Amino acid sequence: MQAAVLESRGREGLKLRDVPKPVPRAGEALLRVHAVGLNRVDLYMRDSGVGITHTLPLVQGVEAAGVVAEAPAGSGLKVGQKAVLYSNAYCGHCRFCLAGDQPLCLHADIMGEHRDGTLAEYIAMPVNCFFPLPDDADLVDAGALMVGHLTAWRMLFGKRALKTGETVLVVGIGGGVAVACLQLALMAGVRVIVTSSSDEKLARAKALGASGGINYRTEKVAKRVMEMTGGEGVDMVIDSVGEASWSDSLKSLRRGGRLVTCGATTGSNPGADLQRLFIRQLEVYGSTGGSIEEFRQLVALFARGGLKPVIDQRYPLAQVHAAFDRLHAGDQFGKVVVTVAA
Ligand SMILES: [Zn+2]
Repeated sequence: MQAAVLESRGREGLKLRDVPKPVPRAGEALLRVHAVGLNRVDLYMRDSGVGITHTLPLVQGVEAAGVVAEAPAGSGLKVGQKAVLYSNAYCGHCRFCLAGDQPLCLHADIMGEHRDGTLAEYIAMPVNCFFPLPDDADLVDAGALMVGHLTAWRMLFGKRALKTGETVLVVGIGGGVAVACLQLALMAGVRVIVTSSSDEKLARAKALGASGGINYRTEKVAKRVMEMTGGEGVDMVIDSVGEASWSDSLKSLRRGGRLVTCGATTGSNPGADLQRLFIRQLEVYGSTGGSIEEFRQLVALFARGGLKPVIDQRYPLAQVHAAFDRLHAGDQFGKVVVTVAA
């Protein structure tokens, strides 16, 4: 089968290869892949991968939707049925899994990071990672659902859930997680303010329902946030940018507000601003992925037509480099998707 295999680091290390079709092990089923959303972590795996235990070569791709091609008896899955995958072949028996907190699994085994991923015609994963979809589900939309929207779901509605009427600041609108945060927050009746260096992206976010947009190249973010919130600040900031935006993110929070981080594209070590943290009693916490239960809720919402991911562009598997380039350039609004030919 065709697959995008990372053989060595960097753009040229990612090769389209003919590799053997995976053979499902006990308890696993086989997905015929139709669509794969790309994510920042794919670029990170391609170019660095530091801190993630894996060996090359590795098939890339951390999310996918497709059609069940093989399923063990008694699994409840049917061959020919549409499905979307949960990315993490979690162990199911560590203390975090037993508590239903699979993203913290001590033996996390994520496709495209620790094991072969989805940028291939087929992928084998444990049966409990398959979430069936209705026959009329759009597989391109479904293939772009797992990482961005699940990450957003946990940040917005996990530890300190946003409530209707609250306000969230989403830093750096355009990426998959940020756009998913915008969509899901609006559905929950939360007011959304976004930042970007692109007036075009700000306009698109407003067209989707954002109530305010701040261009961080030409405007002072925290000052504008205060103006937009009657001097109070926002209830939550979603920041995946890191060092470049951190100070403004802290200054944009109301007293007792929370800053949630799921990425650090501009660096991991911003100033802590401890005095602001304790005097204003702010909360800062991290988030990554989402649990099986959170994914179940997200897939149910998607399956009943309540949610449609914003797709930026699609590329066939043969143009996987162009898809990575699009993500690398940072010009996208929503998800870059790779479709795998039937
Ligand atoms: Zn576990």
